[in-house]
Amino acid sequence: MDFSYPAEAEQFRKELRTWLTANLTEEVKDADRVRGRDADAFDTLAAWDAAVADAGWGAVSWPQEYGGRGATVLEQLVYAEETTRARAPVPLNVIGMNNIAPAIMQYGTDTQKTTLLPRMVRADDIWCQGMSEPEAGSDLASLRTRAVRDGSGDGADFVVNGQKIWTSLGHRADWCQLYVRTDPEAPKHKGISCLIVDMRLPGIEARPLVTLNGAADFAEVFFNDVRVPADALLGPLDAGWRVATTTLSHERAGAARLYAQVEVLLADLVADLAGHTVGGKPVLEDGATLRRLGDLAVRIKYLELLCKRSISATLHGGDALGSASLAKSVWAELGQDLAELAFDVLGSDSCGQRWVDRRLSSRSLTIAGGTTQINKSITATRVLGLPR
Ligand SMILES: Cc1cc2nc3c(=O)[nH]c(=O)nc-3n(C[C@H](O)[C@H](O)[C@H](O)COP(=O)(O)OP(=O)(O)OC[C@H]3O[C@@H](n4cnc5c(N)ncnc54)[C@H](O)[C@@H]3O)c2cc1C
Repeated sequence: MDFSYPAEAEQFRKELRTWLTANLTEEVKDADRVRGRDADAFDTLAAWDAAVADAGWGAVSWPQEYGGRGATVLEQLVYAEETTRARAPVPLNVIGMNNIAPAIMQYGTDTQKTTLLPRMVRADDIWCQGMSEPEAGSDLASLRTRAVRDGSGDGADFVVNGQKIWTSLGHRADWCQLYVRTDPEAPKHKGISCLIVDMRLPGIEARPLVTLNGAADFAEVFFNDVRVPADALLGPLDAGWRVATTTLSHERAGAARLYAQVEVLLADLVADLAGHTVGGKPVLEDGATLRRLGDLAVRIKYLELLCKRSISATLHGGDALGSASLAKSVWAELGQDLAELAFDVLGSDSCGQRWVDRRLSSRSLTIAGGTTQINKSITATRVLGLPR
C-alpha cells in the first residue's frame, strides 16, 4: 500500500482546511450534537450543507455537472480525513448522496440528474430511502410493499400500498427512493422496482419514531393507495435489485471516514477524561482505564489499515468490498466500546451527557447499513473463502 499524498492532494487539503477554519462555526457543531432532537438544529445543518455546496465542497467525488468537484481518490481520502478531524457535520442527505445518487446517475433521465442532484447536495430537498419493512430487513428481497400499474401511456400511475420502517428522515423528506414489489409471481429478487416518490402525494403518512436517546431520526412510512406517476420509475421495471446494488463509481474513499471518526472520538474522550478522578486519583493514571484506552487505540490503527487496504484495492485493482465489510464491523464495535468506556468512567454527570447520548445511539451502529452478522458472513465468504 502506498499512501504518500501527491502535491495536488496536499494543495487540496490546504484549501479545504482554510475554508473549514474560516466557515465551520461552533453553532454548526452544536447543532450537529442535537440533530434529531431540535428543529432549529435541523435548519442550521441544512444551511451549513448549502454553504458547503455553494463553496464547491459538497459532493467532492461527483462530476461538476451534478454539483460535485470531480475529486480524485486521494483527494476524497483527504476530504474524509479533514472534514472528520474538523468535526464537520455529516450531510443531512448522507444516505441520499451515498446510496441514492449513484442510482440516479446511472438510471435517471437527464432532467432528473440535473434537477434532483444539485438540490440534494444543498439539502434544498431532503431525501429518504424506503427499503426496510417490518418483515424485510437483512433479507431485503422479501419486501412486500406493492405497486400495481394502472392506466396506460402518459396517464399511467403505480398505485402503491404498504409500509416501510426505520426510514431515516422519512418524516422530513421531500423525496423517497422507494423499493416496491411490481411482480409478485417472479422469484423474489426479480419482482422488485424502484420509484422516486414525491413525499407530498396524498396517501403517504410518515410517523416519527423516537429512539432511546430522545431523537426522532427515523419514521415508519405508510402508503395507502398512493398514485405515483409511472415516469417516477428509476431503472427498468422489475430491475429494482440491480438499482439497489448500484454503487457510486466516483466515490471510492468513503471508508476513510470510518477510522478518522473513531480516531477523533478517542482524542475527545481522552481530553474529557483528563480532568476526571476516580477515588481521588486521576483517571488517566488508572491502570484499568489505560488498558481499555490502549486496546481501543490499537484497534483504531487496525481499522485504519483495513480502510486503506480497501481504498488501495480500489486504486490498484482488488476486492475493495471484502475489506470494507470487515472495516464496517470493526468500526461499529469500536464505536460501541468507546462509548461504553466513556459512560463507565464519566457516568451521566453533566460533562458526560454527550457520552450518554453516544452510549445510547451507538447500539444502532452494528445494525444500520448492514448488520455485523451479515458483514461477517461477507468477510467469511469473500475474504476467507469459506463456503456460504
Ligand atoms: C440508524 C439506522 C438507520 C436506518 N436507516 C434506514 C433507512 O433510511 N432506510 C431503510 O430502509 N432502512 C433503514 N434502517 C434499517 C436497517 O437497514 C435494518 O435495520 C437492517 O437492514 C436490519 O434489518 P432488521 O432490523 O429487519 O433486522 P433483521 O434482518 O430481522 O435481523 C435481526 C437479527 O438477525 C440477524 N440476521 C438476519 N439475517 C441473518 C443471516 N442471514 N445470517 C446471520 N444473521 C442474520 C441480524 O444480524 C440481526 O442481528 C436503518 C437502521 C438503523 C439502525
